[in-house]
Amino acid sequence: MGATIEREDAVRLGTVEVPYVFKRVPRRRHVHIMVNDGGTIEVRAPWRFSLPRAREVLRENAQWVLRTLERTREKLAGRPRLVSGARLPLLDAWLRLDVRPQAQIDLFGAARRPRGSVERRGAVLRTSPASLDEGEVRRLLESWYRGAAAHHLASRVEHYAPRLGVEPASVAIRGQRTRWGSCSAQGRISLNWRLMMVPGAFADYVVVHELCHLRHMNHSLRFWAMVESAVPDYRQRERGLRALQGSLPL
Ligand SMILES: [Zn+2]
Repeated sequence: MGATIEREDAVRLGTVEVPYVFKRVPRRRHVHIMVNDGGTIEVRAPWRFSLPRAREVLRENAQWVLRTLERTREKLAGRPRLVSGARLPLLDAWLRLDVRPQAQIDLFGAARRPRGSVERRGAVLRTSPASLDEGEVRRLLESWYRGAAAHHLASRVEHYAPRLGVEPASVAIRGQRTRWGSCSAQGRISLNWRLMMVPGAFADYVVVHELCHLRHMNHSLRFWAMVESAVPDYRQRERGLRALQGSLPL
């Protein structure tokens, strides 16, 4: 959540090709490697740091990086399985997942590939994947959540923007594991669809946070005062968000 430049890259550590996100942060003085809860490696570096130098730093710390990645993967493997009966959060509600694979009868011949679907009926989220593959269920659910996010988060932006006296150039829905939202220097706001899986108040806080960056492209006292004007308990919500990171089912 701030003015950074980032790009994706990969580096070979031992026998594995390890993808990572390279971030150059204004006013940052030291390089720092982190593995976030989603299992994404981030190299946060000073503004003038080069990409070859980032790779070098990763290679120098290969042992730590690989060990931390392994531990994060084990944690992710402990996430709830996406099978019938699983509980999925949707803002302040819980939905029960119902997985019913599509009947594989295709009257129009094999050329037509069956496509899965997701439908919400009250508190039940019925998913009809084209195959029994759990990855397929995950992809379908992700796209359903994305659709819900586009609708809900846009309406929250519309709610808060006039109150804060700002107007974003655009609002996009993204799915980066590394961040809940961002705001570009051009006034474009990006929000993570996973915000649909946290309490509504937390999602609202991220919306307000990014909208306030339209006025202050930093985390100055003035920035936080603006956030506080709309969300007085923002510190609590931020702590809550941090606690949820890495425990979301998708
Ligand atoms: Zn920020």
